[in-house]
Amino acid sequence: MPELPEVETTRRGIERAARGQLIQELRIYDHRLRWPVDAGMPAQVAGQRIVEVQRRAKYLLLRLERGTLILHLGMSGSLRVLPTPAARLKHDQFDLLLDTGSALRFNDPRRFGSLHYTLEDPGQHKLLRSLAPEPLEPKFDADYLHKITRSRRAAIKQVLMNGRLVTGVGNIYASEALFRARISPRRGARRLTHADCRRLVRSVRAALSAAIRAGGTTLRDYVGTDGNPGYFRQRLYIYERAGKPCRVCGTVVRRIRQGQRSTYYCPVCQV
Ligand SMILES: [Zn+2]
Repeated sequence: MPELPEVETTRRGIERAARGQLIQELRIYDHRLRWPVDAGMPAQVAGQRIVEVQRRAKYLLLRLERGTLILHLGMSGSLRVLPTPAARLKHDQFDLLLDTGSALRFNDPRRFGSLHYTLEDPGQHKLLRSLAPEPLEPKFDADYLHKITRSRRAAIKQVLMNGRLVTGVGNIYASEALFRARISPRRGARRLTHADCRRLVRSVRAALSAAIRAGGTTLRDYVGTDGNPGYFRQRLYIYERAGKPCRVCGTVVRRIRQGQRSTYYCPVCQV
């Protein structure tokens, strides 16, 4: 599943190719995404220029002259740049054809992605208006994390991945951030001190930023905006290293299940 760094990487790749370009046609091949794509959308966006490509949580916002396209990659979606027209392949759901002859192509085998168009402030769209703070924004700080964890009996890893409290920290980066902060993923969230929260906030930001710099990481077939296999895997400290020695102390890395997801941690470094 694309995590926040992958979406940000996509945004950067798309922005380079699409900013300032005129939309010739939105060609929808299959309307059946997570929510049906509005049949009137192609007529609304044709002839508009793409002013800017932004991101809010894991949504990509294509700001047009009059409105905004809101795209979510879902579980398996990818948006990439086709430099020249190309035949539709399996699971290609739509093309945004630009007047330069290039196209933005959305491919989504599982069709959990979504596409909306709004003329209003996209921040007020039903999908976006109640999103929790983002980990890379100033609002997500030690005070905030400390406050929201006071009443939480759940383990800190579960709280980090709770999209109603902080948006966009997925399984990979929750494990990585907790390792960097030397906090056990099993620790009760309300047992974190203010200093722990400060360290964890810094670690979440560092793990996400490192991944964005590296172009994101993936577990399977994400395709990059340039058409090459997208995420060259950056060095992960702990994720999927069960049975191997901890990179810091050499202790065998453990894997446990938390909320149906695998968690990786070092029982010595993380307390
Ligand atoms: Zn260790």
